[in-house]
Amino acid sequence: MEKNADVIVAKCAGFCPGVKRAIDRVLELEADGKKPVYTIGPLIHNKQVTDMLAAKQITAIDTPDHASDKSGVLVIRAHGITPDFQKQIQSYGMEVVDATCPLVKHAQNIIEQFASQGYHTVIVGEGDHAEVIGLMGYTHGKGTVVSGPEEAEKLPYFDKVNVVSQTTQKESVFYATAETIQKRAGVCQISNTICQPTKDRQKETIEQAQHADLVIVVGGKHSANTTRLALLCKGLAPSVQHVETEAELNEDLIKQSPRIFITAGASTPDWVIERVAARVKQLRAQPNEGETNEY
Ligand code: SF4
Repeated sequence: MEKNADVIVAKCAGFCPGVKRAIDRVLELEADGKKPVYTIGPLIHNKQVTDMLAAKQITAIDTPDHASDKSGVLVIRAHGITPDFQKQIQSYGMEVVDATCPLVKHAQNIIEQFASQGYHTVIVGEGDHAEVIGLMGYTHGKGTVVSGPEEAEKLPYFDKVNVVSQTTQKESVFYATAETIQKRAGVCQISNTICQPTKDRQKETIEQAQHADLVIVVGGKHSANTTRLALLCKGLAPSVQHVETEAELNEDLIKQSPRIFITAGASTPDWVIERVAARVKQLRAQPNEGETNEY
């Protein structure tokens, strides 16, 4: 039997359109000779990519105060920022390029639309995530972040509430939370702002992971969406390994697992996924102890 027949690499693995767009934009700026290029926060949480960008003198800074060369370009990353911070960075006189993902902008617009009608906003997500910090800036000062239904139980009654989601949230968590809030509100607007690429990735993961003996999730250990993907898989497959590169692969587990599914977070570049997949296939092609490749 072909030992690699049951190694499946996810079709939705790797850069989402928003991250790809932001990275392409900074690389274009650098190629056009716009130097130095500063990004407000790391473009993505993937060490291999941030190392590649650093080699091109594309550096992440927290605030324009940290830009040593004020003739450089400031890039707003895919996660977006608050409108107040946007005004502040525009006052520095540096060129500003907005690479906020259009799907994050869509979530910002929905929050703004209902907040301007007096709705309180509840965001289902991680309060310390850059995208959520940016989204909070659109709530007109009336926003709350909850991680799930348990935290939503503790919320007060709202006359009018708009429940939105971090774009990479798990859909079942979003709806369970929205349902909890709906029970304790007058008017409850439910705005599912999970982006389509995240929905597609979650759907494929659920379909494939439950038929796998081992799921390998490739991506940065600090990447929220990759970590969430690994957590999702833990409830579906008997073994799950989250690796940043092929060097961390568990060789024994790979050789023992008949069906392997390889997936990756939205911030993992294709070349890292390809190297992991190639190493997995190479390991499976090697004979186990006591076996031989000769016929
Ligand atoms: S995860 Fe979705 S919303 Fe976030 S950057 Fe990617 S495509 Fe845009």
